[in-house]
Amino acid sequence: MDLNTLTKLLNIPKYKVVEIISIKEEEMHLMLEPYKRKEPICSGCGEIHLKGYHSEKEVIVEDLPISERRVYLHIKKRLYRCPKDGGIHIEKIDWLNKYSRFAYRFAEKVNRLTAITTNQEAGWFLELDDEVVDRIDKEMLEKEAKEKLAPTPSAVHISVDEVRDKKYHRYLTNVIDTDKRLVIWNEKGRKKEVLNKYYEDIGEDNCKKIETVALDGAMSYISSTNKYAVNAMIVYDKFHIIQKLNQTVDRVRKDELQKARKQENEELIELANCKQRFILFKNRSNLTEKQTEYLKKLCEINEPIYKAMLLKESFLQIYSYKDTEEITRQLEGWFNESLSSSLEAFKVLSNSFKEKMQYILNWFRKRVSSAISEGFNNKIKRLKRMAYGYKDIDYFRLKIHQHCGLLNPRLKTINAT
Ligand SMILES: [Zn+2]
Repeated sequence: MDLNTLTKLLNIPKYKVVEIISIKEEEMHLMLEPYKRKEPICSGCGEIHLKGYHSEKEVIVEDLPISERRVYLHIKKRLYRCPKDGGIHIEKIDWLNKYSRFAYRFAEKVNRLTAITTNQEAGWFLELDDEVVDRIDKEMLEKEAKEKLAPTPSAVHISVDEVRDKKYHRYLTNVIDTDKRLVIWNEKGRKKEVLNKYYEDIGEDNCKKIETVALDGAMSYISSTNKYAVNAMIVYDKFHIIQKLNQTVDRVRKDELQKARKQENEELIELANCKQRFILFKNRSNLTEKQTEYLKKLCEINEPIYKAMLLKESFLQIYSYKDTEEITRQLEGWFNESLSSSLEAFKVLSNSFKEKMQYILNWFRKRVSSAISEGFNNKIKRLKRMAYGYKDIDYFRLKIHQHCGLLNPRLKTINAT
């Protein structure tokens, strides 16, 4: 193949192939040169330095394969002494990443793959080591974050959601634009100071424009929102209410299982074990015949679990009411019922709901769809499974943006359809 054809095939603007170093079955090495040497851009300060030439260095970068053959490009880069910091810097070339040994378009390909599958699978597909994929991926996301996440995006309707990293005992606070259904910000921790930082980042004017803030009932988020988003209506999200109800039912199940073990009640141990617990969380109408039978039996032999299920269901029933007065009456009735239920876990929940009653009632005014929080939580679960936990929390934050937010390369395609 002649050099001209290869140059056309490569299609790197302003560069030509000057030598075929080697072509083997699985890879080829090409020497590349610019048609015309441009003035060098300093990778240290980003400016052009005409003086201070130091040396020349050949770098080898991998580019997209041609007909299943891996392509390695050899380029001579110039080094200059930078008058700004006195250091020797290599020149910057726009189609190459600064440190990585890959052409920018190759890194972009990696980034597109990691947006839809695990890094391990992307690595397998591209025949790259896991660490190489991680490094390219993180570098790409950091670059994108600088462009797309600054200044901090604001929105009129937001939802604040916490992500727990069980493996490393860490928390992240995420802000979601509920109209666009995209994560627009996240930060380590879940204290009020963390959310304060978001509100401070977007500034007073944008804070005032926020109309609704859906959240999970955490006092830290409520107090931060009350302080900054002064015009916002705080909504205790239905998705999180269901989550709290399920957790409380599960607390009762665990307590009863413990009692059953003490009393050596084999039948109850069998019925209340962990393997079956998801049945307690499912909507009754979604249960299979076998699951319904199981639940019936469990409720028959254990009154506290039966009561817990009833309390959960009667709370969910309230969501079918339309009239505010009726809803208030129903909520108060539920609080009293829970408090007199002899179920310690429900007494605690009841007090917590009572304290946040206005935010629960706000849901009926705004009817924020729980699909947003649900969708977000499902995506995070999937992401965590895909990565088997992230040691590097900043990378995890970026991955959330990549899979659930503004750094998703599929965004353009998704929006277009
Ligand atoms: Zn410089």
